[in-house]
Amino acid sequence: MKTKFKLQATASAGLESIVARELRNLGYQETVKIDDRSRVFFEGEASDIALANIWLRTADRVKIVVGEFTAKTFDELFNEVFALDWPEFLPLGSTFPVAKAKSVKSQLHNEPTIQSITKKAIVKRLQQYYHRPENLPLMEKGPEYSIEVLVHKDQVTVLLDTSGESLFKRGYRTEHGGAPIKENLAAAIILLTNWPANPLRPFVDPTCGSGTFCIEAAMIAMNIAPGLNRSFAFEKWPWFMTSVNLSELKDRARASEKRDLPLQIQGSDIDGKMVEIARHNTVAAGLENVVQYKQMRLQDFRSDALDGVIVSNPPYGERLDDEAKVRQLYREMGETFRPLKTWSKYIITADENFELAYENKATKKRKLYNGALKSYLYQYFGERVKN
Ligand code: SAH
Repeated sequence: MKTKFKLQATASAGLESIVARELRNLGYQETVKIDDRSRVFFEGEASDIALANIWLRTADRVKIVVGEFTAKTFDELFNEVFALDWPEFLPLGSTFPVAKAKSVKSQLHNEPTIQSITKKAIVKRLQQYYHRPENLPLMEKGPEYSIEVLVHKDQVTVLLDTSGESLFKRGYRTEHGGAPIKENLAAAIILLTNWPANPLRPFVDPTCGSGTFCIEAAMIAMNIAPGLNRSFAFEKWPWFMTSVNLSELKDRARASEKRDLPLQIQGSDIDGKMVEIARHNTVAAGLENVVQYKQMRLQDFRSDALDGVIVSNPPYGERLDDEAKVRQLYREMGETFRPLKTWSKYIITADENFELAYENKATKKRKLYNGALKSYLYQYFGERVKN
């Protein structure tokens, strides 16, 4: 059986370098590479696949690269897919949807045909390998292996998803109310701030909504692995689970948590219903003794503490009639935060003119996608605290 795999950690556009950094910190510095299409690859064994799924905070999925080749005709596609090591991955009886095909700037561009040719080639290979009759379909009743084919400038990548549901689903957010930010984007934003370097400083989200930033911040500070309370596609694969001791990997992750830090993480929101939802999710994450919540307008935020960090995802003007209200909110935000000279502030919004209304130019600005919505992380670095 295969023991070493080429792997891809997928992420939303703009987060690749953060995913790569996470992988380096997890110990994969030797093999981590970002290619010219911003794809993040690394290598490892089955246990590394499990670890990456358990630990990556900012990725969407971990996928096995089953094969890479050039194909300009459907015959080439069929033959190359046929030649890949399918019996290594797919025991007889497996369910193996070719769930996704994507083509960009390639001679093969009809995605449904790419999908069906790929499927046919895998079926034929397995029929031969397992000595099944070619005129009968393979029974697909067993565990699922979800396959993807991506064609880019005639270069084909065939992938097998190991995660199942996207890794942003940690399992704690059972309710979200309005417009939540995805957990993996929230984690990425926190990793972009200077807070994790010294997480004993105050952390405040004054527009906390369902509590995502506060919960992710606590998990980062306490070294709580994001994937401990969910399941992964690989758990259904017999050949995989015989080579990995998942409960031991999870026990080890739990043993490395730092539960007793005196953290100061605070979330507030103008909407009492949202505060309740945030509390509910924080209980689900087991962090109710770590994060403090209250109902409050951000305009009322005051603090004498030094060197804190604010992370906020305020409303942005979706409709024209919201425009004026949002401008006023940003202006008041600027007024409220201005006295907090030593605090660093990180605001993510889809509004391109945020700085104008906030009346302060960001130290740094970074483009990020909040789902499909192009957004910016406006970063304001606090003045250094003299000691
Ligand atoms: N990041 C959050 C979503 C934030 S949406 C999550 O992951 O769930 C924006 C939030 O700002 C909403 O919950 C809204 O109630 C809140 N809000 C709007 N105006 C506010 C104000 N003046 N003060 C505090 N919160 C406000």
